[in-house]
Amino acid sequence: MATSIGFIGLGNMGGPMAANLLKAGHAVTGFDLSEAALSKLESFGGKRASDVAELARDADVIVTMLPAGKHVRQIYMEPGGILETAKPGTVLIDSSTIDVDSARAVAVAAKDKAIHMVDAPVSGGVGGAEAGTLTFMVGGSDTAFEAARPFLDIMGKTIVHAGGSGNGQAAKICNNMLLGISMIGVSEAFVLAERLGLDAQKLFDISSTASGQCWSLTTYCPVPGPVPTSPANRDYQPGFAAEMMLKDLKLAQEAAGSSGAATPLGAQAAALYALFCNSGGEGTDFSAIVKYLRGS
Ligand code: NAD
Repeated sequence: MATSIGFIGLGNMGGPMAANLLKAGHAVTGFDLSEAALSKLESFGGKRASDVAELARDADVIVTMLPAGKHVRQIYMEPGGILETAKPGTVLIDSSTIDVDSARAVAVAAKDKAIHMVDAPVSGGVGGAEAGTLTFMVGGSDTAFEAARPFLDIMGKTIVHAGGSGNGQAAKICNNMLLGISMIGVSEAFVLAERLGLDAQKLFDISSTASGQCWSLTTYCPVPGPVPTSPANRDYQPGFAAEMMLKDLKLAQEAAGSSGAATPLGAQAAALYALFCNSGGEGTDFSAIVKYLRGS
């Protein structure tokens, strides 16, 4: 049965996610600040709303895919926002990558209005959004998760219930902190190998079957050659841009600060990615940090 879905934030990720909901037969009404994004939604058969309140009043399900926590707080919690205008029983899905504290604050405000909400950040990038193969990491009650699930199934392939509100964001930033640290570690190993006269392919052949193996080495190798599909072989075109990695590492550091967790390597990774981005690397793939470490 067609459900009336509101979709706010129709950018690189949200646009194709909304298109997949339309393809599955649902009625999608969108809102975005960008005229181009709204026109694109209409070209896929969607409708546009003139503001958040108009969209929220008529929707049974609302998905948001916004840049950061401040946009999410604004769209949900300010006067005329989703929580003020949505009907009781509406299902809210925030798939933006944002700070855990904002995710939990919005979920608490939704609960006060008896509206079910999940935080459901994704991995899989624009390719995964287009193909409907995203991984969703979901935080929220069992009831909210079950209500959101049929719509997540359309936009993604792997849906994991990570626990209560905010746990989806927690999973996302813990994973990406680990990824940032491991990419720096792998890159340092290749830079040291070069200085020692050890061939990159030889290091790869040994470490990829030894105790140094990890995803950053075996799937996303930061030097050209050993893994033909890695961005290193296409001049580090993203992929996953360094500025996005920096955003997630900063979110991890905020969460570490507010929860009192010791993450010294996470802090170092955030500092190194900030230096790399400031030196002009922000638009390149995050694996290009190897060039920064090498000094070329
Ligand atoms: P984007 O900048 O392409 O899209 C964001 C959209 O939100 C834009 O169309 C913008 O106009 C709209 N927007 C901003 N403020 C708004 C407001 N107040 N009202 C209505 N619309 C507003 O970003 P993206 O790449 O689609 O990323 C969205 C989220 O997904 C981010 O949190 C990002 O970290 C996360 N994410 C992105 C990727 C990726 O590969 N791009 C992967 C995983 C997660």
